[in-house]
Amino acid sequence: MTGKAVVVFSEEDSLALELLGMAKRLAGELGSWTGAIVLGDSEDVVAKYAEYGADKIFVVLGVDPRKDGPDAVAEAVSQVISSTMPSIVLMAATKMGKEVAAYVAQSLRTGCASECLDVSLRDSQVEVTRLVMGGGFLARIVFMRYPAVITVPPHRFQAIPSRGEGTVEKVKVTVQKRLSKVGIRPVEKSGVKLEEAEAVVAVGRGLKRKEDLKLAEELAGALGAELGCTRPISGDLKWLPEDRHIGLSGKRVKPKLYVAVGISGQIQHVVGMRESKVVVCINNDPNAPMHRESDYSIVNDLYKVLPALVSTIKGLKGRG
Ligand SMILES: Cc1cc2nc3c(=O)[nH]c(=O)nc-3n(C[C@H](O)[C@H](O)[C@H](O)COP(=O)(O)OP(=O)(O)OC[C@H]3O[C@@H](n4cnc5c(N)ncnc54)[C@H](O)[C@@H]3O)c2cc1C
Repeated sequence: MTGKAVVVFSEEDSLALELLGMAKRLAGELGSWTGAIVLGDSEDVVAKYAEYGADKIFVVLGVDPRKDGPDAVAEAVSQVISSTMPSIVLMAATKMGKEVAAYVAQSLRTGCASECLDVSLRDSQVEVTRLVMGGGFLARIVFMRYPAVITVPPHRFQAIPSRGEGTVEKVKVTVQKRLSKVGIRPVEKSGVKLEEAEAVVAVGRGLKRKEDLKLAEELAGALGAELGCTRPISGDLKWLPEDRHIGLSGKRVKPKLYVAVGISGQIQHVVGMRESKVVVCINNDPNAPMHRESDYSIVNDLYKVLPALVSTIKGLKGRG
């Protein structure tokens, strides 16, 4: 292993703070320190990192993630990592984080494991657990080269206040951009934070027409839930914006209540909702795999079930 420290990075400070809790535990086991790479020198932000466990805070000047692309951010992070050579680098698996992690690992000629659910030390080696084969299996992976570059899905760990030494080191990096934008095409977004929703009503191809979305919207309204969907609904049919699709290539949600409406339950969808507390499935096919993922199954036509559910919920609410 290299210098034994554990360093975290995310362009979203709240996610980096979540990683610091895990970093602190690992650094404790390694008998080393925790570090955080922070873009910009806002005093309030830097103080937060110390409050949540960072012993050393590398304040990077000269890179703005909103203006500069992931290549510039990655170049800056690489420069800090190559000068500190920690054992472990934890990054939040945001869109930018995943790109940055791959770039950093490549430039340091080391290993990179993405979307890890857990990180531990085994016989002085770093071991991670991650879903593989569309989420059907859990793999345990041991790093052979260091630093171990690891990405973790947002909100996998909790931010835990635990004061670190908070020594600040300012790093001025000069990045040479390797990519230039040739054009920007906006993606339609709802702006909804599905990952944080307490209840989700998700729709699939069991709906016959776009107009029928209103049936699910009414149920979501009655339950105080957000509307989500499978990939065909947003990606192929374009009935809902891309940021409402749940699954392997979409959002990972963990609401208290998840209602799957006309969804077959393919593994690529299920990996995005399997951490939900209570799952209700409405599907007219008794053999749909979604039933196996559910606490409550309604085997019936969604066009009959949804209006009945909405009127029952409204009736119950009316009675207080
Ligand atoms: C690399 C890759 C990544 C992918 N990533 C994702 C992902 O992130 N998220 C995702 O969702 N998918 C993803 N997919 C697609 C995934 O494999 C499935 O094709 C998709 O999840 C199926 O969507 P669905 O359940 O809406 O449709 P279908 O599989 O067509 O299921 C529709 C269901 O509706 C039921 N139904 C029909 N009519 C009614 C009715 N009147 N009442 C009640 N039920 C009815 C049917 O019985 C059926 O079970 C990915 C695929 C690949 C290859």
